[in-house]
Amino acid sequence: MTLQDEIRFVRGIGPRKAQALERLGIRTLYDALECYPRGYEDRTVVTRIRDLSEGESFCIHAVLAAPLKTAHIRRGMDVSNGMAYDETGAVSLRFFNNRYAAAALESGEYAFFGKVQREGRRFVMINPEFEPVGRGNKTGRILPIYPLTAGIHQKDMETVTGAALCVLPPQMPDYLPEDVRDRYALPDLQEAMTLIHRPQTIEQAETARRRLVFEELFLLSCGLGRLRERRSSAGGVPLRDLGLKDFYRALPFSLTRAQMRAIEECCLDIASGRPLSRLVQGDVGSGKTMVAAALCWIAAHNGKQAALMAPTELLAQQHLQTLYPLMNKLGVSCGLLTGSMTPKQKKEVQAQIAAGEISVVIGTHALLSEKVQFANLAVAVVDEQHRFGVNQRATLTQKGQNVHLMVMSATPIPRTLALLIYGDLDVSIIDELPPGRQKIESYAVGQNMRRRIDAFIDKQCRLGGQVYVVCPLVEDGDSERVSAEHCAERLKQVLPHRRVGLVHGRSKAQEKDAVMQAFADGSIDILVSTTVIEVGVNVPNATLMVVEDADCFGLSQLHQLRGRVGRGTRQSYCIFFGADKGENAKQRLATLCRTTDGFAIAQADLEQRGAGDFFGTRQHGLPPLKLANLAGDTRLMAGAKQAADDILRLDPDLEEHPELRGRIDRMFARCGEGMFN
Ligand code: ADP
Ligand code: MG
Repeated sequence: MTLQDEIRFVRGIGPRKAQALERLGIRTLYDALECYPRGYEDRTVVTRIRDLSEGESFCIHAVLAAPLKTAHIRRGMDVSNGMAYDETGAVSLRFFNNRYAAAALESGEYAFFGKVQREGRRFVMINPEFEPVGRGNKTGRILPIYPLTAGIHQKDMETVTGAALCVLPPQMPDYLPEDVRDRYALPDLQEAMTLIHRPQTIEQAETARRRLVFEELFLLSCGLGRLRERRSSAGGVPLRDLGLKDFYRALPFSLTRAQMRAIEECCLDIASGRPLSRLVQGDVGSGKTMVAAALCWIAAHNGKQAALMAPTELLAQQHLQTLYPLMNKLGVSCGLLTGSMTPKQKKEVQAQIAAGEISVVIGTHALLSEKVQFANLAVAVVDEQHRFGVNQRATLTQKGQNVHLMVMSATPIPRTLALLIYGDLDVSIIDELPPGRQKIESYAVGQNMRRRIDAFIDKQCRLGGQVYVVCPLVEDGDSERVSAEHCAERLKQVLPHRRVGLVHGRSKAQEKDAVMQAFADGSIDILVSTTVIEVGVNVPNATLMVVEDADCFGLSQLHQLRGRVGRGTRQSYCIFFGADKGENAKQRLATLCRTTDGFAIAQADLEQRGAGDFFGTRQHGLPPLKLANLAGDTRLMAGAKQAADDILRLDPDLEEHPELRGRIDRMFARCGEGMFN
């Protein structure tokens, strides 16, 4: 057999198991190879009974003096008890409904493996695994623990990975160049594959993992580096006369110092002759849109075009509403291009863009279509960039030559991660909110507050405010819709005189926009939704947000949600349900109520939940990683990035590394797809 062969031809794996394995993404032997253990059980160490301790799993060698005794304790429940000894003591064995154990265990010496509990003065092993000493294959070694699915056992996973390891070609193509492996003391691919599946020591498994994580991060860095390379080599579009005085004068308010600083930093980049490549990070509501507006103005003022891309229709429309009057005042034409426009409308706008009649184009991913051709694109701005794939960012800048790029994000990420994802992007931080903002009063509550909160919702409406109610998105089946729907129904009943609207992830885009628009117009009082409102919507009249089951969310996500209120001048509130879901939930929500600093919250999130999906690759539009953990493997990350930079410096197009190049192209081919919901 070869690695390309299908798994169903492996001995012991019939068509039914092959079908089950497909659920784990395993079709060929190669797929099996890439299905790594999620952990290991160390059964090399035999512990003496005297040295057992409660709560952990141990392997013991012990003698069973008499067969197990089975008792029928109630309907459908048999218990078999026994006692095993070594020279240091005795341990009880207990099996529930295990006829096999009762029949198979005769007097003799066995290796037992299982979790140990204390019962009075004696230890007991419940349902331990066992095999005769010296005549089995489960003890005396490191056991890989694989992810499973219904119908597939650890034994099956060992069978398929074993079959794959048997046919490993002696010369596997290795994407990590030899000198890189030498420098970082990493085993070659063939060795790493063997060690990760069948390590003889835990250290070997760690070495293998290190190598494979390094490889993943290296491939990722190479891919990102190549995307970047395509733009950084040439000079940026020259934009000489910035005309910022006119811009500032046209604004309805004066900018904060942090906004000004971000704009100045962009201008310095542009003046330097390089293409601008900058990430502007700022908490929700910090006024990033105005920095984008400044750049759009600079392009237009120089007779060039700018594009501002947002992840949703509504957001694009809001940007238009903000920018249109401003640009109008400055004598700059402004247009919108989104997916929901009719083909005729789109065609018209596309023609105007191509003719250069529209200077500032605001849109959604519809801007990425091949049909959109700019006359002279000089500036590209990507808002809420984590909603776009890295490829999409590149597609937009490739619509002009040496385009200046600014990406904006409210998602704070740790520095090491930022270095990998954004590479040589410069970073500006807006660390100040516009003046006059009220601090949002936040409370973590339990179900016992339900009626008071209902009354509070009513009160906010009576005072002329509006209310967001957010329900968690449960991915299973249709329960997402049910819970948001259920919540909306309940509110309609307890507050029959209020107008309640509902949107969820499964609403049609048009329907969703219509309801959101109605909320923005004030014709709905209470908007019940899943997290579809997470991104950038601006409804200054909203004064209260209620989050149901807030313990299901990450802290950073809750913080972003909270940023939807407190956008006007009125005192705003945020209520998190879920404080009665245990001490951990209570603590986390308390952190959130205490601080409003997005960076501090992201840090707390990281510490309390571990990496969590918030820092997962998908959140940043990157290809999925199998082993690497973007928050945890930061040391390897630096090395991998260095190695990638070294290769790209000598061979920017990877012409001398065709296999590496092919692998990267495959890895990036699908990233960013399906990111729009
Ligand atoms: P975000 O950084 O979340 O994208 P926005 O750009 O949407 O924030 O700005 C949030 C709100 O603050 C908008 O209503 C905007 O008009 C307002 N705003 C922005 N800058 C200022 C400022 N310097 N002074 C007063 N209001 C401002
Ligand atoms: Mg914004």
